[in-house]
Amino acid sequence: MTLPNFAYFRGQIVPYDQAKVGVLTHTLNYGTGVFGGLRAYWNEADKQLYLFRPLDHFQRFLNSARLLCMELPHTPEKLTEVTVELLRKEARSEDTYVRPLAFVPDEQIGVRLHDLHSDISIVSIPMGRYIESEEGSSATFSSWRRIDDNSIPARGKIIGSYVNSAFIKTDAIRAGYEEAIVLNADGHISEGSAENFFMVRGGVLVTPPVTDNILEGITRRTVIQLAREELGMTVVERPIDRTEVYLAEEAFFCGTGVQICAISNIDKRPVADGKMGPFVGKLRDLYFRIVRGMEPKFRAWNVPIYPGPLNG
Ligand code: PMP
Repeated sequence: MTLPNFAYFRGQIVPYDQAKVGVLTHTLNYGTGVFGGLRAYWNEADKQLYLFRPLDHFQRFLNSARLLCMELPHTPEKLTEVTVELLRKEARSEDTYVRPLAFVPDEQIGVRLHDLHSDISIVSIPMGRYIESEEGSSATFSSWRRIDDNSIPARGKIIGSYVNSAFIKTDAIRAGYEEAIVLNADGHISEGSAENFFMVRGGVLVTPPVTDNILEGITRRTVIQLAREELGMTVVERPIDRTEVYLAEEAFFCGTGVQICAISNIDKRPVADGKMGPFVGKLRDLYFRIVRGMEPKFRAWNVPIYPGPLNG
């Protein structure tokens, strides 16, 4: 992986190798921190890098921090400004991933959330695909269960809870699959290891509700809006049984990392005919046009990084 040249670290942009913490740092010992994940897409025609929905990402980031009682003076607007400045300094002309982290810098023993400080770092790295077979990936139902809202809330992007995702991902990869679908303790589907889940059944787009231990994904929100307003689909948020997925017409993961990733087989069972379905195909085309700043109607979601005139 290419390391970043710069980091926003505790209030200023510094060379990446100066963004360091001590081994007693609370977050490193107890997982008491939260993170985010954004993408910026390069548009060759515009010679522009577009950061996708940063205000929404940073609002969720701050909400996650609130769950951990972190007191941060930042606003989504300020964090977007800082990210634009950081990406300008990196001066890339390729697709980029942005990783904000809110951490507890205190170097002390004692697990808790209260009476601690909090701080923020932001870095970026070049990033292509997160799952190679986006047009038809293989998935399995994980034998792990999703952490519950009353254990560690999945609606917050809490560092410690990603050990649950790591168990899920590693077992899926070692078993020869690219991803896993994770069930809640009650047997209903929550999401993937780091992405939300959708299926098409009876011509209706279905996804688990936000009360089923899922991250409230920005891509999920984007997909629901596009499906309803642009692609003429009925969208229903409801619990999903495992065996419904075996009978689905289409299934896919979505998230900032995986983007829109069709699932073509689950536990070796083909989803419909085992090829990317027509809805997922259309959705992917539209999504990639939007994130690259090619759809004027959705320009409000694209924050340009470099100064200068833009096309369209
Ligand atoms: N669920 C989990 C567990 C995730 O880690 C992610 C990635 N952030 C998502 C869903 C997708 O969220 P988003 O669309 O906001 O990236």
